Amino acid sequence: MEKIRYPRVLCDLSRLRQNAKEVTSRCHAAGIRVAGVTKGINSRLPMVEQFVAGGCDQLATSRLDQMETLRKAYPNIPTLLVRVPMMSELEDVPRLCDYSLESDLSVLEVLETVCARQERTHKVVLMADLGDLREGFWDRDELVEAALHVEHHLPHLELAGIGTNLGCYGSIVPTVEKMEELAALAGRVEAAVGRELEIVSGGATTSFSLVHWGTMPKKINHLRIGEAILLCSDLRNAWGIQDMTYLSGHVFTLQAEVLECRAKPSHPVGKIFMDAFGHFPTYEDRGIRKRALLGIGRLDVGDCLDLVPRDGGATILGGSSDHTILDVEDCPRPLKAGDVMEFDLIYATLLFLTAHAEMPITYLP
Ligand SMILES: *Cc1c(COP(=O)(O)O)cnc(C)c1O
Repeated sequence: MEKIRYPRVLCDLSRLRQNAKEVTSRCHAAGIRVAGVTKGINSRLPMVEQFVAGGCDQLATSRLDQMETLRKAYPNIPTLLVRVPMMSELEDVPRLCDYSLESDLSVLEVLETVCARQERTHKVVLMADLGDLREGFWDRDELVEAALHVEHHLPHLELAGIGTNLGCYGSIVPTVEKMEELAALAGRVEAAVGRELEIVSGGATTSFSLVHWGTMPKKINHLRIGEAILLCSDLRNAWGIQDMTYLSGHVFTLQAEVLECRAKPSHPVGKIFMDAFGHFPTYEDRGIRKRALLGIGRLDVGDCLDLVPRDGGATILGGSSDHTILDVEDCPRPLKAGDVMEFDLIYATLLFLTAHAEMPITYLP
């Protein structure tokens, strides 16, 4: 038996596969193809395999090093680059990606010359910014012009379609109205180029809510989905979509070990200045309370406050590079050094945990 090292992540592969199946089957029934977005798990292959087995039509990530892994493991599954590429990345884009999201004409021009030199063709999806203020053409006429330019003047690029992204920076809700805007824009592009577009990509996990409610406009035929398949925490917990019972929120479990557990004052004692990260936090004085110190920190999870303890009554107080501190006064379990506590993850913590090559991940079949 190999010795267990903490912290460690447990991943239930059959639940993950089932989530992928539930999402893709609902999308397919609505005429929508699914790009499974694997950047949240650093495209680690045992987990990517469940996206494939669950029926995702394409694999997508934001990073070219991960794309290399996907391409090697699944040479026959179309790949989509979901971060609009850097000028400095273009050499590798045609080789590794079948499709990419694009938002800049000068990048498209260089991509054309790269493809011509490499004697390859590459499919592009032009992004429309519908208000979230991250990537995408803001001016609709400019997007239609760019589409025409790709269609007629960039012979090694194929105009696959258009897309949008919502709910990332600007926190904009993908409403039916926003999707109708995208559909109308797709109609304009189709009229301009005189043919149907292969892809009208309506967004990410948050747009899946419209598939769930059956209100997605027909014209939208593509979504890029990661979080709903991996965690299904945003739609259920933040959006309050309680009847999304067909998706498991328990694919992942994080386990961390207790280093010490004892009663201490809840307010620091002495002259308060700055914490380990240059911040000046405030502390609530709740008297003497039982605290647990865990061997997991910001190096592992980015922000310790994002961890969600499964023990009722336990709350996260904070942390530093290598430690997380919990208030466990109201936790019925008598905790002591060597005990293991379990946590649910959100997207950000999953991203950090799986980015560390040395983080142990235990796969349950
Ligand atoms: C990350 C990303 C997605 C997937 O988002 P989820 O919320 O994980 O479904 C889709 N599109 C783009 C452009 C992204 O960057």
